[in-house]
Amino acid sequence: MTPDLTKQVLTKTAETVLARRYYLKDRTGEVVETWETLCKRVSNAVAEVDKESKQFEALRESYFRMMYHLDFLPNSPCLMNAGTDIGQLSACFVLPIEDSMDGIFTAIRNGALVHKTGGGTGYSFSRLRSRNASVRSTQGVASGPLSFAAVFDAATETIKQGGKRRGANMGVLRIDHPDIMDFISAKENQDKFNNFNFSVAITDDFMKAVEEGTEYALIEPSTGEVSETLDAKAVFEKIIDLAWHNGEPGVLFIDAANRDNMTPQLGDFEATNPCGEQWLLPYESCNLGSLNLSNFVKNGKVDYKRMGQVVRVATSFLDNVIDCNRFPIPEIEEMTLKTRKIGMGIMGLHDLLIQLGLPYGSEEGRAQAAEIMSYVREKAEERSVELAVEKGAFPAYDAKLNKYPARRNAALTSIQPTGTVSMIADCASGCEPYFSIVMIKNVMDGDRLILVNKHFEQVARREGFYSEKLMAKVADSGTVIGHDEIPVHWQEVFRTAQDVSPEDHIQMQGILQKNGVDSSISKTINLPNSATREEVELSYIMGYKLGCKGLTVYRDGSRDQQVLNTKESA
Ligand code: ADP
Repeated sequence: MTPDLTKQVLTKTAETVLARRYYLKDRTGEVVETWETLCKRVSNAVAEVDKESKQFEALRESYFRMMYHLDFLPNSPCLMNAGTDIGQLSACFVLPIEDSMDGIFTAIRNGALVHKTGGGTGYSFSRLRSRNASVRSTQGVASGPLSFAAVFDAATETIKQGGKRRGANMGVLRIDHPDIMDFISAKENQDKFNNFNFSVAITDDFMKAVEEGTEYALIEPSTGEVSETLDAKAVFEKIIDLAWHNGEPGVLFIDAANRDNMTPQLGDFEATNPCGEQWLLPYESCNLGSLNLSNFVKNGKVDYKRMGQVVRVATSFLDNVIDCNRFPIPEIEEMTLKTRKIGMGIMGLHDLLIQLGLPYGSEEGRAQAAEIMSYVREKAEERSVELAVEKGAFPAYDAKLNKYPARRNAALTSIQPTGTVSMIADCASGCEPYFSIVMIKNVMDGDRLILVNKHFEQVARREGFYSEKLMAKVADSGTVIGHDEIPVHWQEVFRTAQDVSPEDHIQMQGILQKNGVDSSISKTINLPNSATREEVELSYIMGYKLGCKGLTVYRDGSRDQQVLNTKESA
């Protein structure tokens, strides 16, 4: 595009991932794109929205550059579909399920149309009448949310999203739904609901009842009547027990989410997207993208100036995506255009902290993360406010209801898992610490290939403690902790997800949520295999008190397969 363009070299892993899932292919399956032409395809399609503007060329150029140089990447559907016939560019959707046969099967149909284009769906099953509640038209009894969830699951299983990725769903049930106990244990058996993440929507009233040791009421959705009361602490303990068992269900703090609902006049939040980072109203969709923080350290300092510029460009980019998006159904188009939500996220937080020499689990690390996230939000809002002047505020904006100035987008920030885009960018995913620092791969002829984290290798060589023997030792022990050859400071900086304490994980989530995240955060609170149920309980209570909008815990080794794409399975 420009003659002076420095060539971006991607890692082998990135090229493999791109060739497998992102580069366009011809009829014979031959790859017909490169990283450069992919970035051109996407930036051309997204800039096209402003083709009448004087800034058109400059915008197109800046979109291209930020992607090509891995400063910012949009979510997978945008990379895959922009400028193609599919043209559906969003990762997340929430679809309502009304309490009728028509409502349920409409949701399944709509979900199928979303999955076909690479989007993930969140559903709340809370409006469905409970199992055995009466059905007037047939004089029979209802089958309940879980039996219908199985139909959603089967439908997802069948749609393979053009072979690129399998569908992903979030299934939510309110804590006061009469079928809540069945829902809590629904995924105890790992063969069931494999296309779903299940989360319990927990209310403030429930948390209060847990704290006070009182009972709380279950309410039949079809009549609004109390069906029975349960001991809140016992229900909470059941959730803890199952989360300890294999990480499911997760919890969503629905009242905290609704306190930040910018458009309450349009409805309440009932569910999130599959990975939990984006709360959406029924029929809303959202397109996401992540700033690669590892690219913004210069001479040992955060390069805020350049970061701010990229965030501003990325905000225009994500806003444009809404206008060039091809929505799967008219209801989604209508709702999405009313609120124009975008999800600006981050990835490579750990890379940035490593480059600054700050441990992820330290006060300093958290303070730095908070400063950055607030800055990202500030710049995104600054640009969104300008866009409101240039192009109009989001149509549902109502000055009386909002504490924010008129802006183009009802939500700006959320922190995504970046399961695949972080592999393209070669950085730690989302706001997570690295999962491993040195890995051993057994290659075909019986040789062992040692893969060392790029930052660790650099530091170790620079400080003179690099040796093949040490790397092999780190790989075998699975941690940098406790190796005398590694200075203690670097042991701290290179703690992995498993080495960071659960408290430090939650503190990081809490501080990011409070400092600059509008919607929510996809994050796993890693616990060692030896963690007790009490420790899981403490994590949940701490997360709730810190204002997190949801929590997912994972006890090492407690599950044999993950629902969504992880680095290992990609
Ligand atoms: P990526 O890195 O591929 O862009 P993320 O891992 O950041 O995606 O996930 C962002 C969101 O994309 C998830 O919360 C979910 O809504 C959606 N998503 C992720 N994986 C899938 C999948 N396999 N199918 C459908 N949607 C998905």
